[in-house]
Amino acid sequence: MEARCYIEEDLLPLSGIQHFAYCERQWGLIHIENQWEENVLTAQGRLLHKRTDDPLLKETRGSLATTRAVPVVSYTLGLYGVADVIEIEKSDKKGSELNIVEYKRGKHKPDDRDEVQLCAQAICLEEMMGISLSEGFLYYGETRHRQRVAFDEVLRSRVRTLAHRMHELHARGETPRALKSGKCRNCSLIGICLPGLGNANSKVNSYINHLLDELKEESEVIP
Ligand code: SF4
Repeated sequence: MEARCYIEEDLLPLSGIQHFAYCERQWGLIHIENQWEENVLTAQGRLLHKRTDDPLLKETRGSLATTRAVPVVSYTLGLYGVADVIEIEKSDKKGSELNIVEYKRGKHKPDDRDEVQLCAQAICLEEMMGISLSEGFLYYGETRHRQRVAFDEVLRSRVRTLAHRMHELHARGETPRALKSGKCRNCSLIGICLPGLGNANSKVNSYINHLLDELKEESEVIP
């Protein structure tokens, strides 16, 4: 894909890429139509983030310095947001090593939305600081597990593709259509999205089209 460079006015919230990776329509409802419904899952996630989002929470323990809620931006992705935690480990042998950590409620998910969001934040940091990050970490609140994520080319390419499509849809103001799937069960927007109506709507449309065709045929045979 051709490398792009967005300007300030084009920037979209980075947090949206996790919604987009999960369901394009969910992202469209939140970021194009400004719809949001909180459920238990999103409320728990908000509480977990509250702790990491306090910009005053900086601490140093021995050789490890931790900074929370760091603003990040990438003009090649056209995204801006906040990285939960940046850790800088100082060592006499290796110099300074920077780690990026994203806090999530629950446990590891069967899809890649968390990895995608973390990698997008890493690309932001790379651009801002002129560094290269080979890996980062996801911390899951429910399992208290810290998972390593490799920023390989497959993941980076997926992030670029998702960000590019987000910009295309946002520029057209287009919210993707609902595709009902197992994901809808845990979706906080199911009451707004009404994914079950997708097929019902198309059935109604085809019935109306059928009636119109019949009326047209009848009007053509009337002398
Ligand atoms: S209910 Fe399903 S189709 Fe609708 S936004 Fe949520 S996940 Fe996407």
